Amino acid sequence: MNIIHWSDWRVPDGKPLDLSSLPTLPDPRSEAQNGLWPARMNALAVQLNGLQSMLYACKTRGLLLVLQGMDTAGKDGCIRSVFAHISPLGVRAEAFGVPQALEKRHDFLWRIHAKTPALGEMVIFNRSHYEDVLVPKVQGKINRPLCEERYHHIRHFESLLHDSGVSVVKCYLHISKDEQKKRLQARLDDPLKHWKVQASDFEDRQHWRQYMHAYESALQSTSSDESPWYVVPADSKAYRDLFVAELLVHTLQGLSLTLPSPPLDLAHFKLR
Ligand code: ADP
Repeated sequence: MNIIHWSDWRVPDGKPLDLSSLPTLPDPRSEAQNGLWPARMNALAVQLNGLQSMLYACKTRGLLLVLQGMDTAGKDGCIRSVFAHISPLGVRAEAFGVPQALEKRHDFLWRIHAKTPALGEMVIFNRSHYEDVLVPKVQGKINRPLCEERYHHIRHFESLLHDSGVSVVKCYLHISKDEQKKRLQARLDDPLKHWKVQASDFEDRQHWRQYMHAYESALQSTSSDESPWYVVPADSKAYRDLFVAELLVHTLQGLSLTLPSPPLDLAHFKLR
């Protein structure tokens, strides 16, 4: 059953990318099957759970999911839904905020590398090293050559992870500016969500175009076979979650994980 055509949304290596031409709404082929989405999501959750157990048992591979997107794009919600059926022992989520004093005194990948998955682990990055080529670029704090230098370091860093057994999958959650307006308004209208309101959400919104350009440049410069970027249409939360779940299950299945043989001869164990 093919509900999500996720491979169509892969960012081609090094080719120009125009986010304004890419949809934020579900693909019509998928929308036509929206009655099947809940059952498919449940099936994927079960598969993901089994694959996570295999990953842990084998300890030969790791998985890193990088989630990026504008404020309210749904990074937190996506993590909650996609990993809802996985044991909290089996997955680790890491969020990256504005670098603190010690982090600023290190290279920009220092704090990131420390949180990458060990073999057997599944890790989600809620924001990531990509903030370091988005925020300072939009704020005019890094020039073009420095930005290119950071892309270069990122490509090598992700290549190192790949060569060390860690699969890197990167999703840009693509929402429209109108959808963000609705979601920010919902936060302002709901007292239970007031704690989430940040001045930076409103400031960054004013630089929407600059952020889109910064994302286009970052995604097209760092998408590769080893660590591809996907532009996930994210105005629909259910579709976004299904997309990411489908992509992860496909990625984990591609690792051809096989359970290690038992270290002991189990025939010797007799229960009385
Ligand atoms: P979120 O918005 O993801 O829910 P926070 O409210 O903690 O989480 O916001 C994190 C903030 O930290 C965002 O505004 C993000 O742009 C910023 N940030 C993260 N990494 C960096 C970085 N390397 N440089 C500058 N700002 C960063």
